[in-house]
Order: sequence, then structure tokens, then C-alpha cells
Amino acid sequence: MDIAENLKIIEQKITAAAEKSGRKREDILLLGVTKTIDVERIKQLTDLGVKNLGENRVQELTDKYDKLGSDINWHLIGHLQTNKVKYIIDKVKLIHSVDSFKLACEIDKRAGEKNTAMDILIEINIAAEQSKNGIKPEEALDLCLKISKLKNVKLKGLMTVAPFVENAQKNRFYFSKMRKLFIDIRDKNIDNIDMLYLSMGMTNDYEVAVEEGANIIRIGTGLFGKRY
Ligand SMILES: *Cc1c(COP(=O)(O)O)cnc(C)c1O
Repeated sequence: MDIAENLKIIEQKITAAAEKSGRKREDILLLGVTKTIDVERIKQLTDLGVKNLGENRVQELTDKYDKLGSDINWHLIGHLQTNKVKYIIDKVKLIHSVDSFKLACEIDKRAGEKNTAMDILIEINIAAEQSKNGIKPEEALDLCLKISKLKNVKLKGLMTVAPFVENAQKNRFYFSKMRKLFIDIRDKNIDNIDMLYLSMGMTNDYEVAVEEGANIIRIGTGLFGKRY
């Protein structure tokens, strides 16, 4: 199947899942995840109107940034090392994977040098998986409070990578837990943080994620096919 057909099916499913949760298609942002995908195929997707792209490695993101131009909103969705922040600070729209105060401080410093502010999400390891990045849910509020004191970092929400499961329904519990955490923090009305985004759901489970309140979903395989 080609990318246009894949996108069409995904669009229909997002719309249906959004309606189930009392929302509209336009309330949800679709990120095309382009890791390992070549520029020609990425262009097919951006020509179809998907202008928000996610990469999980810094080097790959900066290479593609140079080739595809700044017309695209780039999102860093993979683990970010402190010493690589400087390479992406003026190239990305949103960093989804902040998992320490040290990393947030480095982002603050580098954004300050460029006279900008960087939007970030905190990554939560919602199922306490050894193989996954992110902080524990019970550490989230404390990290939010610390980050709220940074001038050049704007905390905008939470992100998670749910467990890999055959049956997406099995992740409903985790997505719902994420939503509760998100709402708890949002309702504290902490100065300088604006809880707008809940980034969760991938090819296997995005419909359930949207039903449970996701408003950014990150899809690779579903658009481009299997990665090699
Ligand atoms: C690869 C990746 C995705 C997309 O995964 P698919 O299953 O191909 O849709 C989403 N989020 C993160 C953080 C990823 O690394």
C-alpha cells in the first residue's frame, strides 16, 4: 500500500477515535515518524500535508532538516543526551523526551544563548519497563516544579512510549493512567507551565491512546510500512 492510502485509513481512524472521546480530528496532531525513512518517501508524506515529523536520533534529524528545509515542524522523540542539545536547539519545535532536570537545564542554557524558549514534554515510563526511558509517574510533579523555574524552557505536557503489545486494549490502562497524571498536574496550575499536550500512541495502539485522551500521536510503520 502506498503512503497516501495508509494516511487515508489512519485519518479515518483518528477521526473515529476522537469522536469517541468527544473531540474532533483537528484536536489531535499526527506526527509522521520518519526514522530510517529516506527523504524521497518523507517528501511523499509532507506533500500530503503532514508537516510535523518525529525523529529519535539527533544526527538523523539534523541531516533531514538540512535536506527537507525548515517548512517542517521537527519533533525530537527519542532519548536526548545532554551534549547533543546544542545541535537541535534551533531546529526543533518540541522535545518530547525530557527525562531529567539536568537535561532540562542544558536545554534552558542553550535556548537562552539563542534568545528563544524551547517547548518540551516530560517522558514518563508509565509501565516501569526496564528497556524504556522516562521517569517514574511519582517523580513527575517534582520535576515539573523544578522545570517551572527555568526561564527558557516551556513545559507543555507529557509523553510516553507504552509497552509493545499485540492487543492494543492492554495499553488502555496505561494510557488512562497517563491522562490522570496529566490532569493532576494541569489542575495544579503551576506558574510558567502550560499542560497542553499528551503525546502517546503509535502504530499499534494510537486509536486506544486517542480514546484515552492523547492529542499527539506518533506514527511510523502505519504510514511507511515496516522499517528495515
Ligand atoms: C519509532 C517510534 C514511534 C513510531 O513507532 P511505529 O510503531 O512505527 O508507529 C513512535 N514514538 C517513538 C518514541 C518512536 O521511537
